[in-house]
Amino acid sequence: MLKKSIIQKKWPPVYDAEYIPEENEKYWYKDIETASQEELDELVFYKLKNVMNYALENSPFYQRKWKREGFHPDDIKTLKEFDQVPVTTKEEVREDIEQHPPFGSNVCIPRSEVRRIHGTSGTTGKPTVFSFGKEDWDRIAHQHARIMWSFGMRPSDLVFIASPLSLYIGSWGALIGAERLGAQTFPFGAGQAGQTEKAVGWLKEVKPTVFYGTPSYALYLAEKAKELGVDPKEFGFRILFFSGEPGAGVPSTKKKIEETFGGICIDSGTMAEVTPWMSNTECEHRQGVHLWQDVVYTEVVDQNTHKLLPYNSEGVPVYTPLERTSQPMIRYWSGDLTTWTDDPCPCGRVYPRLPRGIYGRIDDMVTVRGVNVYASLLENVLRRIDGLGEEFVMVVTRENIMDEVTIQCETLGTRSNKELEETVLNELKRETGVTFKIELLPHGTLERTQFKAKRVIDKRNFRE
Ligand SMILES: [Zn+2]
Repeated sequence: MLKKSIIQKKWPPVYDAEYIPEENEKYWYKDIETASQEELDELVFYKLKNVMNYALENSPFYQRKWKREGFHPDDIKTLKEFDQVPVTTKEEVREDIEQHPPFGSNVCIPRSEVRRIHGTSGTTGKPTVFSFGKEDWDRIAHQHARIMWSFGMRPSDLVFIASPLSLYIGSWGALIGAERLGAQTFPFGAGQAGQTEKAVGWLKEVKPTVFYGTPSYALYLAEKAKELGVDPKEFGFRILFFSGEPGAGVPSTKKKIEETFGGICIDSGTMAEVTPWMSNTECEHRQGVHLWQDVVYTEVVDQNTHKLLPYNSEGVPVYTPLERTSQPMIRYWSGDLTTWTDDPCPCGRVYPRLPRGIYGRIDDMVTVRGVNVYASLLENVLRRIDGLGEEFVMVVTRENIMDEVTIQCETLGTRSNKELEETVLNELKRETGVTFKIELLPHGTLERTQFKAKRVIDKRNFRE
């Protein structure tokens, strides 16, 4: 039994809006974060039961879905049985929105209580929009603040928000979390032409201590700064935290970011649909993202059976936010690939980890001649090689029946092209077993992004 006062037997939970730990406290809620596994499981299961019952009572989407699938929340008697709950997919949500525009039939609060509308970035198809009620919005801010605390953010920090302040929930989630924590914020929201040059100027003057954005944008910013004669270390960031791309969990990218800026690089993020999206975030020790199980319950499951896998296996993360009342999501299928572990972390938190973060996707990973090639693996290899720029693209083509993958990357001109090409070819072959075509381009040729980098261009036509 959880004896501690902080664990509420109340759902949805109500948190003290004024509470902030003392500056030198290591944990926001020590009682929960360092609970025993049994205590944590009990809290998680209590919340899961409440979320499921709530969805059954309030969500026409889940009422229909579960009836169709012959499932009832009462079937689940223990946490171990939770993996019998059917998963919810992006396609189901998209279909529901099409049939019940504009928000779908999973919004469980009256329209008048909706505080914010956000959505996916819509990189594939029409954006999916979400409604957040006021109470959910406040709880998201609270949980994000709590998680930011774990990587060392404090009220004395000033946070530079570099991702666009748009429909994209990432930037807003970072903003409200930082505000709830009592930090100062500088919501810059890059994305317009010429804005990165301005950012360099402002950063030098305003001196924020924390950066938030995507890893590819941070590296682009560093490149711009150097062009303008500014060493990115001069900005003085002590923490850089990231979401929107897997890069911050890729060891060589993490190293590059830390060496370039001089601050610590923190990987974070799940999916917009299961906000509070910071529930997967590294602590200051940077041993892979912790799964904050009492915020969003994360399972790593078999991609075919959807059953929970033991620690140290590879599978697909499935997410269940535990405090959302405006739009519950129960076992939301991510399609990502990861490996998880419960090896202890020096921070002492009970939460398991993804030591290598999210490193691929089951549905857009490129399979080349039978080998699964992840852009993040290539990134790890390419960023280690001297003489290459930051950007790269893999272009997949099919000639006759053979797949060809051309890696386009940029040379900095510090080594001969022939030697560099051989190094790239050999390193990639050694790491993946695949022989790629290498195409070296002059520095600055590939498209720069102020947001998420596109690493795979698949030109194969599977419908022929
Ligand atoms: Zn830790």
